[in-house]
Amino acid sequence: MKVMRLTYQNSLGIVWDQRFTEISFSHPMIRDISKARVRDFIKLAKEKVSFVEIRPEYATKEDLMVVHTRDYIGLLEESSKIPYIGFLDQGDTVHYPGMFEDILLVLGSSFTAIKYSKFLDYVYIPLGGFHHAMPNRAVGFCPINDVAITALKLLEKGERVAIVDVDAHHGNGLQFILYDKPILKINIYAYDGNFFPGTGKIDEIGEGKGRGYNINIPLPLGSTDDIFEKSLEILDLLELYNPSYVLVVAGVDGHKNDQLKSLDLTTNSYNLLGLRIRRIKKTINSSIIAYGGGGYGPMSSLSMVSFLEGLLGRRTSYEPLTSSEDIGKIRRIEKIISRFKTLSNFFS
Ligand SMILES: [Zn+2]
Repeated sequence: MKVMRLTYQNSLGIVWDQRFTEISFSHPMIRDISKARVRDFIKLAKEKVSFVEIRPEYATKEDLMVVHTRDYIGLLEESSKIPYIGFLDQGDTVHYPGMFEDILLVLGSSFTAIKYSKFLDYVYIPLGGFHHAMPNRAVGFCPINDVAITALKLLEKGERVAIVDVDAHHGNGLQFILYDKPILKINIYAYDGNFFPGTGKIDEIGEGKGRGYNINIPLPLGSTDDIFEKSLEILDLLELYNPSYVLVVAGVDGHKNDQLKSLDLTTNSYNLLGLRIRRIKKTINSSIIAYGGGGYGPMSSLSMVSFLEGLLGRRTSYEPLTSSEDIGKIRRIEKIISRFKTLSNFFS
């Protein structure tokens, strides 16, 4: 007798715990916006998309050791006992009482997502995608690197892993930790050599076993929806690479109304990203886990939901598209993409 596997068509799971609305590791001036974004997101998601709500599990201290140093984990644990809010780094990422438990909940969300990703087309973690954290220190609102830990755990299990990291900021921690690992990393972010965190040159292509696996697509500051849409053509490489898992950091802080303004994107861009990931899912049927990434503005939650609507095959347009007057910018992105497509023939 054939055993039937339980699967859903066009199905979406959202990893959710009410605790998420109280968690933010951001600078005190940004913390309330961060929390409001997650609170507004779940309300909007309930109105606009149908999804399965998934309760996250807690990770353990040992899970952090996949990436982070023993000393740094000790610092996180001790900081979490201090009865006031302070900084883990030079003034971006905060510690607060009970932070360590929140970190384990955030990381556990990825492990829960792995389990459900076998049965659902897409699993989304609104509070996750902390791509700046380094093994021994917090960076840019990120106390731990949940994506790097998840990717390495999957690699260890023999999975073929790809990461799509889309955010206004380059995922410097993720790139650093996985630089010599055979995990395809495609990064799309704002770049001018100075904008935080400053990394993300196109010739940072990985080393050792990871050589050729790190693909940086820098967008000029102020890039518009049409430039962003052009940059998504690099995702064709996923079809060639044929991963069993794709982890997507779908950060929405490139929206033109974001507090940390760097790009001139609208909700359209995030919807297009969702649609593109959907197309890839339909072609290669990888398991997909997506993260909320960064987002610090009044349009963040609608941008997140627009992404989910894209995953489910809906083209939505809540705002007029922004477009560039400068055709040269689009040409430059085109050139970078075709260069990487030529270099990446070895995947096939
Ligand atoms: Zn960001």
